[in-house]
Amino acid sequence: MPMTPLTLYDSLTRATETFAPIDPADLRVYSCGPTVYNYAHVGNLRAYVFTDTLSRTLTWKAAAMGWGTLTHVINITDVGHLTSDADVGDDKMEAAARAANQDIWAIAKHYTEAFKQNLTDLNIRPPARFPLATDHIAEMIAFAEAIADRHCYRLPDGLYFDTSTVPDYGRLARSGDDAREGRIEAVAGKRHPQDFAIWRTSAPGENRQMEWDSPWGRGAPGWHLECSVMSKLYLGERFDIHTGGIDHREIHHPNEVAQNQAHCGCADTGANLWMHNNFLVQATGKMSKSAGDFLTLKTLVDRGFHPLAYRLMCLQAHYRSELDFSWDNLAAATTRLKRLAQTVAALRDRPPGPATGSADAYRAQLDAAISDDLATPRALPVLDAMLADKRIAAADRMAALADFDAVLGLDLANLTRAALRVRPAQATIDEADIAAALAERREARAAKDFRRSDAIRDRLIADGVEVMDGDPLGWDWRLA
Ligand code: AMP
Ligand code: ZN
Repeated sequence: MPMTPLTLYDSLTRATETFAPIDPADLRVYSCGPTVYNYAHVGNLRAYVFTDTLSRTLTWKAAAMGWGTLTHVINITDVGHLTSDADVGDDKMEAAARAANQDIWAIAKHYTEAFKQNLTDLNIRPPARFPLATDHIAEMIAFAEAIADRHCYRLPDGLYFDTSTVPDYGRLARSGDDAREGRIEAVAGKRHPQDFAIWRTSAPGENRQMEWDSPWGRGAPGWHLECSVMSKLYLGERFDIHTGGIDHREIHHPNEVAQNQAHCGCADTGANLWMHNNFLVQATGKMSKSAGDFLTLKTLVDRGFHPLAYRLMCLQAHYRSELDFSWDNLAAATTRLKRLAQTVAALRDRPPGPATGSADAYRAQLDAAISDDLATPRALPVLDAMLADKRIAAADRMAALADFDAVLGLDLANLTRAALRVRPAQATIDEADIAAALAERREARAAKDFRRSDAIRDRLIADGVEVMDGDPLGWDWRLA
C-alpha cells in the first residue's frame, strides 16, 4: 500500500516538516526519560504515550517507506536533576534519599522499575535501551573535558557553560529572554544568566551519596550533560528526533543543543527534529512531581480504571494540545474503550463471511491521520468506522484491526471485557461472590420472585456493586 509522507512538527523551525531520515536504514530517536526520585505521574506518562505513538508510527510505516529498524533510547535520570530546572537548588535524588533516610541507589532502582512497569501497563513498547546517567560518568567527564577550554569557565561550585560561545543560544525556547531570566536564579560569578553548570563541585562538608572525582573536583555532573552524552554514544552525533515535554523546550533542550554544538564545533543541534508534547493539566495547574499533588497510574487503577483507558484518553487529544485530566474524562474514555472491546469481541465470534468490501481505504485514512503530525484524535473515528463497516468481512476487519493496534497500541485484539473490569482497591466483595449473587438473582427473576431479586440487588449495592440490567454494552455489573 502506498503511504502518505510523514510530517512532524519541529520545535526548532516551528513548522511541520516532512520526515526524511538521516540514514533510512537506521532510524534513531532519543527521549528524555524520567528523574527517578519518585513515581512517574500520569502527566509524565503522557510524554511516553506520545513517544510510543511516534515510535509505533515509524515502525508501522517503515516497510512501505523503505526505512529500516528504529533505535529508540529513553534515558533514566538518576543523578544531576536539581529541584529547579533552572540550575539551582538541591539534587532531586539526594533530597529524596535524605528525606526518606534511604540509600539513594535503592531509591533510583525502585522508581526505575516502577517506571518500566508503568510503560508495560500502558502497552508502551520498551525502547532499545534505558541507559542510566550514573553508568556514564566517565563519558560525561570526557565530553566536558573536550569542551571545557573553549566553552566553559570555573566557579567555586563547578564548571559552567558559557552560552555566548555557541551560535543562536536558546533558539528552541519560546518564552522571551525576560521570562527565562525570571526563572533562572542568579549564581554569583555567572557570566550570563543562562549559563549553566555542566559539573557541580560538592561544597566542603556537603554530604552527597553520589559523587565522583573529576578535573573540577569531587562532585556530580549537571543534568543537561547526560542527554548530550548518552544520545551521542548510542545514536551518534547526529540523529533523527529528540523528544521531551514542553518544559524541556525552555531550558534542558537549549542547554543540550549548546553542548552538542560546542562538542561538534558546528551549528548542528544534534537532532534533526526536536519534538515536544504538551502538558497534562489538572484543575490546580500542570501536574508536577515536586508539587506533591499528583496522580500515578496506580491511583487510577486503584479507582477502578484500566491503564489502557488512560492511554485512550491521551490519544483523544493531539500531543501538542494541553490535555485536562478529570475523572469524567477518564470515565468517558473507559466507556469508549469498553465499547471498542465489545465490538471487537462480537467480530471475533462472527464467521469470516464473504468479502465484498476492502479495509484498505480505512488503512489509508489511518495513515493519513497519523502521518499528519500524529493526529491520533482523527485516527480513532476511522477505527470506529472500520469496525462498523458491514461490507467488509469480519476476518478482514480483524486483520485491519492489527494495523490500528500497531499504531495506537490499544491492544484491542486481545483486550477482553473481563480485563477491563478493574476492581477498585477499596472494594471488599470479590468476583466469585458477585457471580454467585447474580446467578441467584437470575433464578429469582425466572421464578418471578421480584422481592428476592430486589433484595439481592440491594445487598450488592450495599457492597458497592451496581447491577446493570439491560446495559447496552452488555455489562451485567460494575463496581460503583
Ligand atoms: P521528569 O521525570 O520530571 O524528568 O519528566 C519526565 C518527562 O515528563 C519529561 O519529558 C517532562 O517534560 C514530561 N512532563 C513533566 N510534567 C508533565 C505534564 N504535566 N504533562 C506532560 N508531560 C510532562
Ligand atoms: Zn534530557
